[in-house]
Amino acid sequence: MTPLPPLGAPVDVPSGRPARPPEHVDAVVVGGGIGGLVAARTLVHRGLQVVLLEASDRVGGPVRGGAFGSLPVRLDLGAESFAARGTAVTDLAEELGLDVVSPAPLSAWGYAAGRAFPLPKAGVLGIPSVPWAPDVRRAIGWPGVARAALDRVLPRFVADTTDLGTLVRSRLGRRVADRLVAP
Ligand SMILES: Cc1cc2nc3c(=O)[nH]c(=O)nc-3n(C[C@H](O)[C@H](O)[C@H](O)COP(=O)(O)OP(=O)(O)OC[C@H]3O[C@@H](n4cnc5c(N)ncnc54)[C@H](O)[C@@H]3O)c2cc1C
Repeated sequence: MTPLPPLGAPVDVPSGRPARPPEHVDAVVVGGGIGGLVAARTLVHRGLQVVLLEASDRVGGPVRGGAFGSLPVRLDLGAESFAARGTAVTDLAEELGLDVVSPAPLSAWGYAAGRAFPLPKAGVLGIPSVPWAPDVRRAIGWPGVARAALDRVLPRFVADTTDLGTLVRSRLGRRVADRLVAP
């Protein structure tokens, strides 16, 4: 039997700092991602004594900021946006006193092989729908286009379905997988 991964150290919910476990506990929240933090906060607001266990040395999961290369600004490195269809996240951000910034209406750019390029407009999960479209060519070059176009003629059995990246690599080649799907 595979042993369960070890549980992390307790975190003080309001401050996010490591904490001593309290004598009495009403609820244990495992995982200090956004889901665990919101759950723990809701329970604390209901007057419960909560312990939050986090395996890594920081809370937030993929919601995290940090430096990127030599850029002189701090960036969102993981999750950086939220859907504005409902009000749950905006209400929470307001309660927490966070500034919400509307994204600039610019296209997304990718960076690979030492240069930046606009991510192609037409496609699914980075998989281009038209491999020879000009914006795809700019991203993966002619060799990449030629390899990706082979997808149209390769027999169906040429498909490694281990995971999405491997499937794309086997059907459309390394450049599509590494430059368009991996980002
Ligand atoms: C690169 C990236 C970009 C994303 N961008 C967006 C975006 O822009 N907008 C958006 O809405 N969503 C985005 N998502 C999805 C979003 O980040 C997730 O939906 C969200 O983080 C899920 O929250 P969660 O609390 O359920 O899990 P997570 O945030 O994954 O948190 C799980 C936590 O549990 C901890 N943990 C795991 N195992 C244990 C254990 N055994 N004991 C203790 N702790 C443990 C982990 O360390 C982690 O901190 C993105 C995801 C990724 C990976």
